[in-house]
Amino acid sequence: MTPTPKSRWLVVGGGMMGLTLAHRLAARGQQVTVCDAAPRFGGLTSAWNLNDVVWDRFYHVTLMSDTHLRELLADIDLERELRWVETKTGFYSGGQLYSMSNTMEFLRFPPLNLIEKLRLGGTIFLASKIKNWKRLEQIPVATWLQRWSGKGTFQKIWLPLLRAKLGETYKQTSAAFIWAHISRMYKARRSGMKVEMFGYVPGGYARILERISEVLQQQDVRMLASHSVRSIRKLEDQQLEVDFGSGRVETFDNVVLTIPSPVIAEVCADLRPHESQRLTNTQYMGVVCTSLLMKKPLSPYYVTNITDDVPMTAVIEMSAIVDSEQELGGNALLYLPKYLPQDDPGLQESDEDIEERFLSTLERMYPQFSREDVLAIRTARAKYVMALPTLGYSDRLAPVVTSVPGLYALNAAHIVKGNLNVNETIELGDEKLEGEVWPDFLKRAGAVSAAVLSVV
Ligand SMILES: Cc1cc2nc3c(=O)[nH]c(=O)nc-3n(C[C@H](O)[C@H](O)[C@H](O)COP(=O)(O)OP(=O)(O)OC[C@H]3O[C@@H](n4cnc5c(N)ncnc54)[C@H](O)[C@@H]3O)c2cc1C
Repeated sequence: MTPTPKSRWLVVGGGMMGLTLAHRLAARGQQVTVCDAAPRFGGLTSAWNLNDVVWDRFYHVTLMSDTHLRELLADIDLERELRWVETKTGFYSGGQLYSMSNTMEFLRFPPLNLIEKLRLGGTIFLASKIKNWKRLEQIPVATWLQRWSGKGTFQKIWLPLLRAKLGETYKQTSAAFIWAHISRMYKARRSGMKVEMFGYVPGGYARILERISEVLQQQDVRMLASHSVRSIRKLEDQQLEVDFGSGRVETFDNVVLTIPSPVIAEVCADLRPHESQRLTNTQYMGVVCTSLLMKKPLSPYYVTNITDDVPMTAVIEMSAIVDSEQELGGNALLYLPKYLPQDDPGLQESDEDIEERFLSTLERMYPQFSREDVLAIRTARAKYVMALPTLGYSDRLAPVVTSVPGLYALNAAHIVKGNLNVNETIELGDEKLEGEVWPDFLKRAGAVSAAVLSVV
């Protein structure tokens, strides 16, 4: 049997995608370096402090159906620690907070009449059964939802939810977006009991990231934090020269970029114009997300969806899932996210302004809310969170195997039949590594050694 060629790889971006790919490549006997611009690895899953509490900057839960993530957790010996909790969902509509956690509550939900409820339930059921997502990519999400749910339900429920999640970009978004969202949530409900079970690893993603780092170190993966890639250049001898700034330059045989598409176009000047254009044209949604450590919870709901016109997309209560005594010092942890297009000025707003607006909104929404219960408040933001699934999105994606030999553009923008989450990210990474990156590498390695032999 021919031995696998050993080659030097750089994985750019140390979020869950980059770290998983580094782990997989090292397992294939490769010499791997993974770098990240930030001082810590983890990207969107990285953690921070709220007083003494360390938890994710952005909220994360795992679903029972997240098989790829669970396999990775098993691989790093954390899967058996996952804690599963039954969750409740709230709905804030017309100035009232409703529980929407089971069929009876749904049937009692006052904002919709019986016909509207049946159409809403029917739309969700229909979406959960659809297999041909590609067809949905050609239909605007608003058109599809109005068709199946009717005007009343669309105006009262779907439109406010779409606006909350996508702003006015919902007009460019395809029906594949809502299909992916519904399919994921549908899978989360255990078939028999029809209740939502969400899971977390004690210690949150900080613990997962720490374990991944340990495993990568055991695999001799070189981890370079605070290393932002400024440019990548193709050299004549097939190598790729990577400039990390401050005069630090290194060469690699292969580079896998897991960073946002527009940034890939910025750093790789050797790409062909049509590749750069596709990468640059990928539109992203960003997020501002305020974390509140509170003396007590606001509600029993993990997610409270909101149809009223308020500044946040939803209210997320992590302490409805996570053990407060063990993980949060006996306190409650809330997240107030607002998703915004990547170029929205709201992403640049000061923390103070955002926090003041969110706090005064909570005062209006929840009579029991008091600022005196807030122990700590911090606001995180990210410009590139989710590539927007616009009409015909998958047909306009830039290729993973680029025109520059050894340069691979493999980021979460390639999730075409799901929505952004860690499970999809890992599944995508594995699928593209196995199906595109590795075969291309082997082909090139064969070609390169043949070329070397012919010279000798
Ligand atoms: C508010 C919010 C809630 C979420 N909730 C959930 C949830 O409940 N469950 C779930 O499974 N998922 C959830 N997710 C999604 C999850 O966080 C992502 O799917 C996952 O973290 C994506 O990983 P990634 O590696 O693709 O990208 P990222 O985490 O974005 O990693 C990209 C990395 O590239 C680095 N980088 C960028 N430019 C450069 C450069 N030039 N040089 C070097 N490095 C660079 C960045 O610093 C970053 O670390 C949530 C995300 C958000 C924002």
